[in-house]
Amino acid sequence: MYETLDHYIDGKWVKPTSGKGQDVINPSKDNVLAHLGHASKADLDKALAAADKGFKEWRKVSPYERCKIMRKAADLLRQRVDQIAEVLTLEQGKPLSESKVELMASVEVIEWFAEEGRRAYGRIIPSRTDGARGMVIPEPVGVVAGFSPWNFPATQAVRKIAAALAAGCSIIVKCPEETPGSPIGVVRCFHDAGLPPGVLNLVYGVPSEVSEYLIPHPIIKKISFTGSVPVGKHLNALAAAHMKRATMELGGHSPMLIFDDVDTAAVAKLTAAMKWRNAGQVCISPTRFFVHDKVYDKFVSEFTSIAKGMKVGDGLDAETTMGPLANPRRINAMQTLIQDAQEKGGKVATGGKRIGNQGNFFEPTVLTDVPNSARIMNEEPFGPVAVMLRFKDTDQMLTEANRLPFGLASYVFTHNAKTATKAADALEAGMVSINHHGIALPETPFGGMKDSGFGHEGGIEGLTAYMQSKFVAYMG
Ligand code: NAD
Repeated sequence: MYETLDHYIDGKWVKPTSGKGQDVINPSKDNVLAHLGHASKADLDKALAAADKGFKEWRKVSPYERCKIMRKAADLLRQRVDQIAEVLTLEQGKPLSESKVELMASVEVIEWFAEEGRRAYGRIIPSRTDGARGMVIPEPVGVVAGFSPWNFPATQAVRKIAAALAAGCSIIVKCPEETPGSPIGVVRCFHDAGLPPGVLNLVYGVPSEVSEYLIPHPIIKKISFTGSVPVGKHLNALAAAHMKRATMELGGHSPMLIFDDVDTAAVAKLTAAMKWRNAGQVCISPTRFFVHDKVYDKFVSEFTSIAKGMKVGDGLDAETTMGPLANPRRINAMQTLIQDAQEKGGKVATGGKRIGNQGNFFEPTVLTDVPNSARIMNEEPFGPVAVMLRFKDTDQMLTEANRLPFGLASYVFTHNAKTATKAADALEAGMVSINHHGIALPETPFGGMKDSGFGHEGGIEGLTAYMQSKFVAYMG
């Protein structure tokens, strides 16, 4: 199944030298798929030296040439989708069809940034002096350290790699140890496309040890992290202490606002697909469903019946519509949050339990009557749980939707333009999607507000995050 589980440093596949590592476990069957070695400090030093050398070379390669190599990598990835998707599903658990969608999305991200790198324009500022020119020239920031998570192991790594490379940066990515195979498959595409050695380096290790070594290192000029709020705050503090630029894509607790003028059956179908995707382990997964009193009972019944009809199973089984949770930590988190909600008066409309003893399978769960004092109303669930909340007054509901420190995605379903505009203006979230699921595309800015982080991945904002402006005043 695996061609290699080696690290990629200076254009070569290498064995890490720490002598330590961890098993990679199949979340559907609990069997060991492979053993992954961890990087030592000496390995990280090699990656740093390679990335430093790679940056000096890559920044001089024209955006046109960079684009050609990146597009070739995208073509290779497109050809290898089926093969890498199987590894992704075996390691992470999501249905094979979702793994293929994730990899095709990764292809699109590479292609979009490849092209956008050719449009990294500066600007000319009218001068106060005859014959003078004022120019703003965008330059790549330098060597980047990227830290990507296990929920979308391919796309989350690709968003950092593609944007950095398009901007002319080199990058060291530390990808998720629990799901190493698909990032390796992606990096192999860049290698086979002819990316010069050192421009892209891939390592695995103990996350805290790798980040605490790389972030303060003088060679690193920027970090990009996707993960939880507490870890993001910790890494951002470290970056700030060493004056490093940072992009922080952190957790969310997305409100889904459903007004009384919608076709509830159609909205239940669409929002259920959004909720159960990747077993809810998505930072933009809708979690708090605010449903208008007039349609609440109908919507909850329709949404719950879809949840009951989900086929939970091994992602490699064609019948499966929701795979296992990616690791046992998520099972513990679901059990703890649901038990706490029940103790505080919450009711389970469906689900609520682990399925069987093998694999991390959990029932798609719908909760009702959950008070704000419950932990699940305050902590990101990051799993297959939806909380249904009844509202009558729009202003009160919007205040409640904004109550939490999170501010990543939000969703609104209504056909009333005034209501939609009011909600879009009021919601404290980096992304608002109205009447469809229109976020997380390569060409649109993806990012949060408040504790959900800052900076963007995607859109022109995603490219400029890897660039810095130099002003040149010129007199001919
Ligand atoms: P966690 O908080 O320990 O880790 C989250 C991610 O950060 C992992 O990829 C991990 O490898 C990485 N990480 C942890 N400590 C790090 C450090 N010191 N330096 C560098 N990287 C570090 O928790 P977990 O159990 O792996 O994941 C669960 C939580 O993480 C969820 O509740 C969710 O909030 C968050 N998460 C968010 C995303 C996202 O897309 N924003 C993705 C995965 C996980």
